[in-house]
Amino acid sequence: MPTSICPECAEEVFVDAEIEQGDTVNCDECTSKLVVVGLDPIELDLYADDGNGGSGEDDFQYGYEDSY
Ligand SMILES: [Zn+2]
Repeated sequence: MPTSICPECAEEVFVDAEIEQGDTVNCDECTSKLVVVGLDPIELDLYADDGNGGSGEDDFQYGYEDSY
């Protein structure tokens, strides 16, 4: 089973042999959610979880003018 290093706690993390870039794994040591950013070698990065599952959010358009 391949392993990589957790960017949060620097412990070894076991990843599935069939893992693909963009997949997420959880570190057993610190329970951080990690995303696979590279496969050769396997590289993990902290998964940015803003608690808002949306992807491709549009920026708000601030078209208002403060005039009466
Ligand atoms: Zn960790």
